[in-house]
Amino acid sequence: MTSTLPQPATLALLHASDPGYDEARTVWNAMVDRRPAVVAKCHCTEDVAAAVRYARTNDLEIGVRCGGHNIAGLAVPDGGLMIDLTPMNEVRVDPDRQLAWVQGGALLGELDRAAQKFGLATTAGNVSHTGVGGLTLGGGMGWLARQFGLACDNVASYQLVTADGEVVRASATENPDLFWGLRGGGGNFGIVTEFEFRLHHVGTRALVADFTYPVDEGFDVLRGWRELNAVAPRQATFTASIKGDSLSVGFAWVGDPAETTELLQSFRDLGTVVAESIEELSYLTLQSRDDSIQGHRYRRYWKGHYFKQLTDDAIRALLRNPGVGASLQAYGGAIADVPDTEAAFSHRDTLFEFVTATRWEDPADDAARIATIRDYAASLDQYAGGAYLNTLNGETIKRAFPPAKLARLTDLKTAYDPTNIFHLNQNIRPAS
Ligand SMILES: Cc1cc2nc3c(=O)[nH]c(=O)nc-3n(C[C@H](O)[C@H](O)[C@H](O)COP(=O)(O)OP(=O)(O)OC[C@H]3O[C@@H](n4cnc5c(N)ncnc54)[C@H](O)[C@@H]3O)c2cc1C
Repeated sequence: MTSTLPQPATLALLHASDPGYDEARTVWNAMVDRRPAVVAKCHCTEDVAAAVRYARTNDLEIGVRCGGHNIAGLAVPDGGLMIDLTPMNEVRVDPDRQLAWVQGGALLGELDRAAQKFGLATTAGNVSHTGVGGLTLGGGMGWLARQFGLACDNVASYQLVTADGEVVRASATENPDLFWGLRGGGGNFGIVTEFEFRLHHVGTRALVADFTYPVDEGFDVLRGWRELNAVAPRQATFTASIKGDSLSVGFAWVGDPAETTELLQSFRDLGTVVAESIEELSYLTLQSRDDSIQGHRYRRYWKGHYFKQLTDDAIRALLRNPGVGASLQAYGGAIADVPDTEAAFSHRDTLFEFVTATRWEDPADDAARIATIRDYAASLDQYAGGAYLNTLNGETIKRAFPPAKLARLTDLKTAYDPTNIFHLNQNIRPAS
């Protein structure tokens, strides 16, 4: 394929007519249909460094693709250079030292499968085709977070390519400021080519419980669920799901299912159970059981909030749901144990993360679908205390970081990427 752009010596570049180009630019949200001028398929750190230098030389906007799950498709630059990390999906595990080295383009399933061979795991999200890269850099919430902290709390070191095309490492002892910023600051400071994760012995067993109650008991059930959550063991992550006037609550448990007997009974006591589902499953199945409903062919829209408390008024507002999916997932436990100043990630005192989401296929429905989600999320704004960086969908970054954190992140951005080469992300602008 001929190109008007010069060809770098070693880098594999895809142009619009090349096989694999369309696959590379296709991401999770089918609303995203952007066409990079060129896609750099990166197989190693040197490729990534060459791609950054190539983009700079040719004045191309950079997008960085790992799992392609960002709701707004930030990985795909229209007319720019997409740095495609997906060939870099290797995971090496040292079971004795309980460490995993994960390349920057790996998916969560690849990390989970490699670690579970030894009964090990670290915090990762709930859908296995999500990227380790984007998820971990923004924080990384998963079923193990209440036991072991967020994904970013379990990173011992990062290797990354900076805006200058240099390769640097960040850990508690090497470039500690950068390490601080990478723990929750998103893709702002460079392209991570390798994460070193701490692993934990979690065994291979899990349980998911889900209870449905009559519509008119919704308010009392959610209040009882809120109180129960305050004393829940860390193996349990409480969940609630609301759609229209239907409500179910439950929890995901990582550990020995035999230890859930008492907790299960407490849920039965919350109200008149009309349906219950108790599923014992392997940890790997837990980590992929939502893969199909979260599959790739749909148009998508979502909004999220962090709730620092769940007041009775907030519950009433939640229950005025216009027929769209809405979920709550509990934080707390080891997430809140980490001092707020230790990492860029903020809002560790969150009680529940809220997400309302919808999916559809006909572009003619775009406006109505988006408006319904926006209106419902807006009706809950007054109860929110910020939002998760990785669920921001067009809102200000100030929702993810309080002013002092944002000021420190801005200084870091100014030091590492003064001209904002990496801006197709949840962007922290350098000082001008
Ligand atoms: C179905 C689904 C389930 C989800 N479940 C969870 C969950 O359980 N827990 C949770 O915390 N979040 C969850 N999320 C949110 C998720 O964390 C974000 O969507 C995140 O951006 C996904 O990362 P990615 O690598 O797949 O996305 P991409 O679109 O590939 O990347 C998003 C951005 O991350 C940056 N980035 C990615 N990789 C790198 C890298 N190696 N170096 C530098 N920058 C990089 C880039 O700025 C890029 O624009 C979910 C999202 C979806 C769609």
